[in-house]
This record gives sequence, structure tokens and C-alpha cells, in this order.
Amino acid sequence: MHYYSLNQAMKERFGCKVYKLALDGGMTCPNRDGTIGERGCIFCSDVGSGEFASPACGNISRQIAQAKARVEKKNKGGKYVAYFQSFTNTYGPLPYLERIFREAMEPEDIVALSVATRPDCLGPEVIDLLAQLNTCKPVWVELGLQTIHPASARYIRRGYDLEVYDWAVRVLKEADLEVITHVILGLPGESREQMAETVRYVGQSGVDGIKLQLLHVLEGTDLAQDWREGKVPVMELEDYVRLLEDCLAVLPPDMVIHRLTGDGYKRDLLAPLWTGDKKRVLNTINQTFARDGVCQGSQL
Ligand code: SF4
Repeated sequence: MHYYSLNQAMKERFGCKVYKLALDGGMTCPNRDGTIGERGCIFCSDVGSGEFASPACGNISRQIAQAKARVEKKNKGGKYVAYFQSFTNTYGPLPYLERIFREAMEPEDIVALSVATRPDCLGPEVIDLLAQLNTCKPVWVELGLQTIHPASARYIRRGYDLEVYDWAVRVLKEADLEVITHVILGLPGESREQMAETVRYVGQSGVDGIKLQLLHVLEGTDLAQDWREGKVPVMELEDYVRLLEDCLAVLPPDMVIHRLTGDGYKRDLLAPLWTGDKKRVLNTINQTFARDGVCQGSQL
């Protein structure tokens, strides 16, 4: 079995390794400001799932410089994607969005703009703006779907229905934008088959890429409370890697796999603690995949 990694896709497209620079546009989220909900998704921390973004300082160029400085030893002369990661990055006044997105796309070594958002925060003006920017450099829109199962969506307090995701994918693709869907594996109450069903659904939904990550329990979230009460089973690394194989098996071969695991954010991570040991996680994935004949490479 083959899978098409982001690394490989970027090398083919831009001729070199490409790093994502996580940025904070200083926005909030309708699932936190009271529009849809006040406590956010159950797993979301007070940085709005932007654990690796430079702290919002209102100055995007400065954030880009700081983020580059962190990886430049590994990426000398390389290229970057400006990734607005924290909170909901289309949830702001249009002129502000245009200003920060254009500023982020400006440097020559930024080869694409990536905007993480909710499918219910994509009005026609926002889509027009993203489509316009897409004529300058590629624009990716990252949608946090997490699951297709209504009971899990209710548990995590996602705040929109699956139909909204389907609609968003359709209008984004009609606008010729690239779409990446985020899925969380290991949500409480979901079987392995249900998790693979979500991944299969995403694979057939017309998007270009998928980001898979295991549910992390972070300090300060409502999920942490449930975890302390024993309501959140935590997967072992070996089980997670086997689950990844099941998921990759149901995806189209040309689907770009942006991530196989979330980075453990050590400061607030409560469980599973093994996700904080990136080296061990990558080694186990590589060894298990090699043993089971799962390799990187497009079948196209
Ligand atoms: S939509 Fe994103 S930013 Fe908003 S509460 Fe959920 S995870 Fe957090």
C-alpha cells in the first residue's frame, strides 16, 4: 500500500522541502465568543488549537521571522507555507483578513497561504477574497471536521452539521481552492470502524488533503475533566499505528496526507503522554509501516 505524503507532494510541486509556519491572526471563534457556543470544542485549549503558532503580536511579518528562525537551520534556502492556525481564521472583518493574508503571502520564500477555519465561517465575500489571493499564490483552506458521526460531533461540541462541511467543500472547490480536512482519531465512543468511516468519507468528499491526528487531552480543557473521570479511553501507540494503516487503506492514492499524528504539545499535554515523544512515534510508525509494506509514494 502507498500513501502520498505532504513532504513528497511539496517536493514535486516546489522542488524542495517546505515548512509550515504557524501564525496567529489574533482572531477568536464563534464557538467561543457566544455566537455558537462559549466553551469551544471540548478538546480546544485557550490558544484555539494553535499551540505552535507564534504568539499573536499583531505583526504578521514579525511572526513569520520568528517562526522561520525556529526552523531555518533545518531549512536553509527552503520554502514555507504561511499557516494561520489559531482559532477561526476567516472570522474577522474582511479588510483585516485581506491585510494579514496579503502580508503573509508577500515574501518570496512563502509559496502558499493556508487558512484554518470552520466550514460555517465561509461567507461569499471570504470565498471571493481567498479565490482572489489564490491567483497570486496557492491558497489552502483547512477545515476542522474531526468526525462524521453525529453523536461524537455533539460530544465534542463542534457546533455544525455534516451538511455544512459538504456545502463548504463544494463551494471551496468551485472557487478552485485547495481543501484539507482535519480528522481526530480516538474520540470517546467511536469504534475503529467508525474512525475509518470518517476517513473514507473525507477521501470521497472531493478534498485534496487530510490531516490525521490522535485526540490529545490538554490541561485546562473540558476534555481533561472527562479524562480525569475515566470517560476518555486513551489509545496505545501500537494500536494507533495500526489504526493509521486502516485509515490509509480507505483513502484515494492521490490524497495528500498532511499529517499522521499531531505534535505532542508537551506543556499542557495530559494524555496520551507518548505523543510527546516525537522520535519514538515517528520510529514506530516507520518501522510498522515498513514491516507491513506501507510506503510513501503516489500510485499515480
Ligand atoms: S472551532 Fe477550532 S478554535 Fe473554535 S473552539 Fe473548535 S477547535 Fe477551538
